[in-house]
Amino acid sequence: MTFSIFGDKFTRYAGITRLMDDLNDGLRTPGAIMLGGGNPAQIPEMDDYFSGLLAEMLAQGKLTDALCNYDGPQGKNTLLQALAEMLREQFGWQITAQNIALTNGSQSAFFYLFNLFAGRFADGSRRRVLFPLAPEYIGYADAGLDEDLFVSAKPNIELLPEGMFKYHVDFDHLTVGDDIGLICVSRPTNPTGNVLTDEEIRRLDAIARQRGVPLLIDNAYGVPFPGIIFTDVTPLWNPNIILGMSLSKLGLPGSRCGIVVANEETISALSNMNGIISLSPGSVGPALALEMIQRGDLLRLSETVIRPFYHQRVEQTLALIRRYLPEERCLIHKPEGAIFLWLWFRDLPISTEVLYQRLKQRGVLMVPGHYFFPGLEQEWAHTHQCMRMNYMPKPELIEQGVQILAEEVERAHRED
Ligand code: PLP
Repeated sequence: MTFSIFGDKFTRYAGITRLMDDLNDGLRTPGAIMLGGGNPAQIPEMDDYFSGLLAEMLAQGKLTDALCNYDGPQGKNTLLQALAEMLREQFGWQITAQNIALTNGSQSAFFYLFNLFAGRFADGSRRRVLFPLAPEYIGYADAGLDEDLFVSAKPNIELLPEGMFKYHVDFDHLTVGDDIGLICVSRPTNPTGNVLTDEEIRRLDAIARQRGVPLLIDNAYGVPFPGIIFTDVTPLWNPNIILGMSLSKLGLPGSRCGIVVANEETISALSNMNGIISLSPGSVGPALALEMIQRGDLLRLSETVIRPFYHQRVEQTLALIRRYLPEERCLIHKPEGAIFLWLWFRDLPISTEVLYQRLKQRGVLMVPGHYFFPGLEQEWAHTHQCMRMNYMPKPELIEQGVQILAEEVERAHRED
């Protein structure tokens, strides 16, 4: 078969595809220790809550209603109104339902947005998406219709006590040329658990406005829901900011519901794209979210169940890692949010791609770091020294995985 240029590009076995494959295979392989993917944890209290909510909605006919009808291309009106009201009350943002569109997962929203603001333009110019702080989310890497759509910048690394470190935007070397059409950050960041400081976000916002390009903030893990953020930071929105949100990390990845908050022109563009590409976003996730907002459960559960669960789990996992891997062997990015730990094996004699292969052979799945530098143009050894792990499985399993990781790290040092 001969595929088109589009076909050739989008049928590649991309990093994100390998990750989803690993996730899928691992979920079906008994005994595998899944520290790789970004599936949210099964939190018993949330599982019970969703089961109960679904049963009630079924009994009331609301679930059947959602399943048996298309929503409009912008998404379920009643949810758009309820969300706008909630965000107005929560943060004082001046928004209405016309500032929100739903998509089939936020992943597809990023695909729309990258290709809306970057690529080839009618005047013959080309623009790219800037990630001002790499490492950045693996799922962005292949989401451009054009080759070389992304460019990213190396961070400053601040070394912290107790074998921790934190990345910062290197504003001294950040260049935002005329070829940049969009600036994008995930906050909290997948893969590192970093949360860009308020000051960093304010500076990026100022640069974006000065250059006349939107600032896209991927808030898939942030506040007000699912609230997986352990530091005190202020969410920012203004008409030049596009905020991506999602129901996935709340525990509903199968609902494929992404939420975009932006100025009306951008929202209208996204609605039209939805119409052409998928007619309308799926209706079940939005129906659940609406019900959760009306019952006052969305923010309550984020604050009282989801955040404490992940916070406790990350503290426990940090302690576990330190039991097996001393600071000389492994530095850890300060976990400020999201559902991952980012490990830096500064002196490892093998690349983390080789380490990944060795771990996989022993039934432990993690993700090697080099996937998380989309658009980084220069070679940088650091990209081959890092590894991302999640802390979703039960602590006993995480411990087994960390123990095997420590053995393989020692083995690599012994072989050197
Ligand atoms: N953004 C980030 C930072 C993510 O980690 C993910 C998923 O892991 C997504 C976006 C996409 O999530 P979804 O399409 O399920 O909303």
